[in-house]
Amino acid sequence: MGASKGSIEVNERRRPHQTAALAWYALLTLVAVLPGIAFAAPARTWIVGATVISPERGDAGQRLHVLIEGERIAAVTAMLPADAGRNATIVRAEGKYLIPGLMDSHVHLASIPAISFPMQARHRDLVDGYLRQVPRSFLRYGYTTVVDLIITEPETIRAMRAAPVHPDIYDCGGGLSVPNGYPASFAPAEFRFALFPNTLYDPIHPEGFPAQEDPKAHSPQAAVQRIRNGGGICVKTFFERGYGRDRNLPVPSAELMRELVAAAGAAHLPVLLHANTFEAQTFGVDTGVSIFAHGMWNWGPYDSAETAPPQVQALLDRIVQRSIGYQATLQVIGGLQLLFDPGYLRRPDVQRVVPPALLAWYRSDEAQWYKRDMTQGTSEGEVLARLGRVLRRGGQVVQYLAQRQARFLFGTDTPSGPTIGNLPGLNGYLEMQRLVAAGMGLRQLFEAATISNAKAFGLDGDIGTVQPGKRANLVLLGRSPLESVEAYDQVHTVWIGGAALDPASLEATRP
Ligand SMILES: [Zn+2]
Repeated sequence: MGASKGSIEVNERRRPHQTAALAWYALLTLVAVLPGIAFAAPARTWIVGATVISPERGDAGQRLHVLIEGERIAAVTAMLPADAGRNATIVRAEGKYLIPGLMDSHVHLASIPAISFPMQARHRDLVDGYLRQVPRSFLRYGYTTVVDLIITEPETIRAMRAAPVHPDIYDCGGGLSVPNGYPASFAPAEFRFALFPNTLYDPIHPEGFPAQEDPKAHSPQAAVQRIRNGGGICVKTFFERGYGRDRNLPVPSAELMRELVAAAGAAHLPVLLHANTFEAQTFGVDTGVSIFAHGMWNWGPYDSAETAPPQVQALLDRIVQRSIGYQATLQVIGGLQLLFDPGYLRRPDVQRVVPPALLAWYRSDEAQWYKRDMTQGTSEGEVLARLGRVLRRGGQVVQYLAQRQARFLFGTDTPSGPTIGNLPGLNGYLEMQRLVAAGMGLRQLFEAATISNAKAFGLDGDIGTVQPGKRANLVLLGRSPLESVEAYDQVHTVWIGGAALDPASLEATRP
């Protein structure tokens, strides 16, 4: 306030045109000061001397200083102002690496590993403890943005968004199943429409559609409109004939899928297709979907091939040509393998992300139901061998696509099923290790988890790079993620909307 009074006094001794200019300046100063009277000045932080790696630059990083003002990045500069420390917190970051916050574009926040929906009432405390930890676990591993692809329990997501610390949470609203199709098929028949309000009416296959429901309310256009009205940023649908005990499930017709792709396109929403087979990804390419929510693990008639046969390669070539977003989700299978790893629950990284009470229950006999389910009528060795073959095919697909610069999008499908092997936050790091081991380059991985994801979901105006104006979602790493995938396990600080978080404070076993 003193400064603006002084400048007005100076004005009186100036020539008229100068006086006018200075009066404007004084007015601007006053305007700049006024909000400071009404509201607290936004918190300012200088992150000093980190090697900044931002995907749009294409380099290995440069030593820069980043100013955060309030929730946004205000400056990225090579020269630190001499008075930087006057009204800002200084974070010394020399020798460390600053990257945009990571984005996982395939999560299921309300699904609880090993506690299926009917079991939840019996274990309310474990469920509540887990759900409180989920947003913290994602942040612990640097995930500042997540996209939940299927909302079946809006209340749970609302509670997470209201939690004191949480990543930015986006969603695709309710999933677009066909009647009695995947994944509505998991729920008892009488609950399917309630859990999946965006179930589609398929004129080519009207047979499963209940007589009491209105087909017009279940057209692709109506479903897309509901998603938009609910704030959804994407459309999630499915081509899955089933596995395990649920086989021969109904799937959408190509005509229905094309109509959905057109309706979503008109609303500027990407269509994600659950598709992990040669048949399903062929269907997705033919009908023009935007993103595959899984890798191609199953090659159908070519499953016994040691390496991808020409037919599989030709399909992958079309996926590259059409620039379809690709979530390889290898850790879906890796997480099933972990069910059979006796040392898994003792790992320190597992302790970080799941409350101790739930970990203790995971050791109980009751919690082994899914493992028993998987081994029914067969041996552990056979199950592991089968999963190994699936992973080999998935890994070969990643390698082939990586060599051809496919548009990878980082999405983990956490948790993909009732397995304890897909735990929030940690699962992202495990997925990254698998992708790199399969042949994805470190820069490809970095882009997939930042700018490519942001663009695919229409969020790149806000996140995905370290640039002025973007939301201050940032991660400070101890190593360069362009030199080793292990860098993602060296998180020093996470900023979410400009607020700094110590990763230790986010862990399930925090003091
Ligand atoms: Zn999923």
